[in-house]
Amino acid sequence: MEIIMKPKKRIALIAHDNMKDEMLEFVRDNEDILKQHELCGTGTTASIIRDRVGLEVKRYKSGPMGGDVQISGLIAEGDIDIVIFFWDPLSAQPHDPDIRALLRIAVLYDVPIATNRSTAYFILNSKFINSEFRRDVVDHSELMSKRKEEFEKLK
Ligand code: PGA
Repeated sequence: MEIIMKPKKRIALIAHDNMKDEMLEFVRDNEDILKQHELCGTGTTASIIRDRVGLEVKRYKSGPMGGDVQISGLIAEGDIDIVIFFWDPLSAQPHDPDIRALLRIAVLYDVPIATNRSTAYFILNSKFINSEFRRDVVDHSELMSKRKEEFEKLK
């Protein structure tokens, strides 16, 4: 199933505490590109970007309070086009299951997800950032009817 991403992207920004400086530097450096799109993020990340850079960022709950789960839900609803997620590879996080879920959902829905600085630069500077792009997503209804068929066979 194809999902068409419009030229104006809905971008989610998330950074773990040790990565927030890197996120701020990245956002400042790419402000001209980011301001052409619709931004959202987990609680603290969104607040810091708004306060320090002045970009409008819709704020969801803080990561440990369910923010990553909210972003995952938005991806599943088709409401997020790109995720910039600077997770900390050197510290354990209390909400590790939520982080794993977010990574899984992003892959499942074929959403571009940058989990480090270089990938984030590549994504924002891609030729697709200001044009349409067709994502290829597993067809839910086909998948569901197959699973239902399997269930009925066992009855
Ligand atoms: P935060 O959440 O933006 O509220 O710090 C990020 C995270 O820990 O996933």
